[in-house]
Amino acid sequence: MSPLPGLVGQADVGGDIVVDCGAVIVGSGAGGATMAAELSEAGVDVIVIEEGGYHPTESFGTNSCRALRTLYRDGGGGMAVGRPSVLFAEGRCVGGSTVVNGGMSWRTPARVLARWAAGGVTAISEPDMEPYFARAEGRHSVGLQDPGTVGRDSELFRGGAEAKGWTVLPNRRNQLHCAGTNNCTNGCPTGAKRSMLVTSVPRALSLGARLFADCRVDRVTRSGAAVTGVTGHFIRQGGRAGPRMTVRARAVIVAGGAVQTPALLARSGLRSASGTLGRNLSLHPNATVIAFFDEDVTGWQGVHQAFQVREFTPEGLLLTATNLTPPMLAGIMPGHGRELGELMADYNRVVTAGPLVSDSGTGRVRNVPGLGAQVFYRLTDSDAARVVRGVELTGQALFAAGARRLLLPFDGTPEARGPGELRRLLSRPVPKRSIQLYSIHLMGTARMNDDPRRGVTDSFGEFHGVPGLFVADASLFPGPTGINPMETVIALAMRNARQLVERRSRYAI
Ligand SMILES: Cc1cc2nc3c(=O)[nH]c(=O)nc-3n(C[C@H](O)[C@H](O)[C@H](O)COP(=O)(O)OP(=O)(O)OC[C@H]3O[C@@H](n4cnc5c(N)ncnc54)[C@H](O)[C@@H]3O)c2cc1C
Repeated sequence: MSPLPGLVGQADVGGDIVVDCGAVIVGSGAGGATMAAELSEAGVDVIVIEEGGYHPTESFGTNSCRALRTLYRDGGGGMAVGRPSVLFAEGRCVGGSTVVNGGMSWRTPARVLARWAAGGVTAISEPDMEPYFARAEGRHSVGLQDPGTVGRDSELFRGGAEAKGWTVLPNRRNQLHCAGTNNCTNGCPTGAKRSMLVTSVPRALSLGARLFADCRVDRVTRSGAAVTGVTGHFIRQGGRAGPRMTVRARAVIVAGGAVQTPALLARSGLRSASGTLGRNLSLHPNATVIAFFDEDVTGWQGVHQAFQVREFTPEGLLLTATNLTPPMLAGIMPGHGRELGELMADYNRVVTAGPLVSDSGTGRVRNVPGLGAQVFYRLTDSDAARVVRGVELTGQALFAAGARRLLLPFDGTPEARGPGELRRLLSRPVPKRSIQLYSIHLMGTARMNDDPRRGVTDSFGEFHGVPGLFVADASLFPGPTGINPMETVIALAMRNARQLVERRSRYAI
């Protein structure tokens, strides 16, 4: 018996299913769940199909290994192949990446919106977007942390950055009385993080939407130029293919995230005259500096990430301290066996921090036979130089905060025991391929542009040349936001849902 009305999981399904609806939505993350709630509110008959499972708040806790297995795609171990390759993570569960994300919720910077407008996107100015940002923030309780929920790791990093005279902002997060348990990336165990799992998904279901979880969409179906729905299959426990799913719909909204969306569209035989489907991938490369302090930091107490250093955003650099859970920290520590054990024994005295780069290079998603969607990425020389500069700035702030030594995110994990040694180490060229990078912000692989020669969709997410087919996720971004992207995904989905509702007679939904 499902705990939410309208939710069906693989265990509830005995045989093949064929269903009809007005709009079918692929994916229940930031874009898909928002679309589902907005369209359901307007009275559209909505079906959501989600590849991942339904995991309620009560099932979340401190076990990162379980979370990686149940809530993430490929156990959080995606790889964008290149020199260097970039490790990346995406959510795969009801609620998508919003279930495992850090909850930072920021509006798209005005300069980014202006760039997108100048590039060929309409109705994207700051005044155009303001009502949707306000609605997104209201719906997801975006605000500052309650006092007493900020951890010592964040305070140390802030103190170091302020000692350098840099601008530091407290994070705005989609949370209601976050208790600072620092389990964001395992799924919030108190439900304080207002992810899609506890906001738009139940809202859409209570308004009549149906959600099929553990069900992977294989293809978008068409008759001539018009879309007719999707086909897919349920995934049994252990990953076995289960019954088949057919949804007949008059509008199809693809919101599988910036890797899966272009892969699904391409394997459905869709092409974009712009040649940009699956290309133009940005991923905000991140690097992590590990700092050891003499005092107990207990970084695992207090919110995951409380501040952002905004001093260097004009250079495309954002610096943050983000506490990593023990398995995640162990994964990036050097060595193994006793050596790794000795480093991890200092877990309580560690602060992890680093730069996020608004990237100028791009990558690509391709369907590789037998392997599925594969990601390729080329880090530009200028972005590599910015990562190195970001590492140096992060290190300076950490030493200003009292760090005793740093481990740097380059092959061989060089160690710096003071600002002088850090400067000396980084004054030598750092080979690009030696930089250890990861990403949690994938964007741009079905970019919007009113000109079909330059974009996959129009300014409101409709696929050029295929009426009734929409994209509603981070794939739409024409370029990187330079900042946490979730609120941009949500606000765009709200804006595009309104446009779709205004034109609903065209699609008979
Ligand atoms: C660990 C982590 C931390 C992050 N922290 C932040 C943060 O603090 N602030 C912020 O702004 N952003 C953060 N992000 C990024 C943010 O969560 C994403 O940018 C945002 O959720 C993207 O929304 P989306 O709709 O494009 O995709 P997602 O939210 O990823 O949702 C896509 C959904 O589609 C499903 N799907 C894909 N293909 C199919 C298919 N074929 N059939 C059925 N279902 C399918 C997936 O399983 C998934 O559930 C973080 C991400 C991660 C992974």
